[in-house]
Amino acid sequence: MICYNLICVQEHEFEGWFASSSDYDDQSKSGLLVCAICGSTKVEKAIMAPAVKTARKIEARSIEAAKAMTAVAAKIREEIGKNCDNVGADFAEEARAIHYGEKPSRGIYGSVTPEDSSALKEEGIAASPLPDAFVPDVAKPKLN
Ligand SMILES: [Zn+2]
Repeated sequence: MICYNLICVQEHEFEGWFASSSDYDDQSKSGLLVCAICGSTKVEKAIMAPAVKTARKIEARSIEAAKAMTAVAAKIREEIGKNCDNVGADFAEEARAIHYGEKPSRGIYGSVTPEDSSALKEEGIAASPLPDAFVPDVAKPKLN
């Protein structure tokens, strides 16, 4: 027995079981294939199997989700770029100055060495790594 996904002229899809592929051909030629939904005898093999359709749907959804994520990341990048100062390699120094009240509190971003990063943590200074997608474009090193 083989199973074919069938589709009628009105695009109703259903499964049909046949003894063999020639059995399908015989039934098709004799007009014995009838749509289970509308009774149409204009029925043929569906080009796409349901599994393929599902995979394409999932792919389309992933693309949509990725686009939404990209839009969110762009918004966050923009907000950080607008509201925070890029202090570049002076980040650790600036973060300390703000933390110890030597400078007014403000949002900053920049780069730190791994040593600076753990030193800031030990000093209890609130700083967290920024996912690459959220780093404002101006702060990214230019690729040559
Ligand atoms: Zn139909």
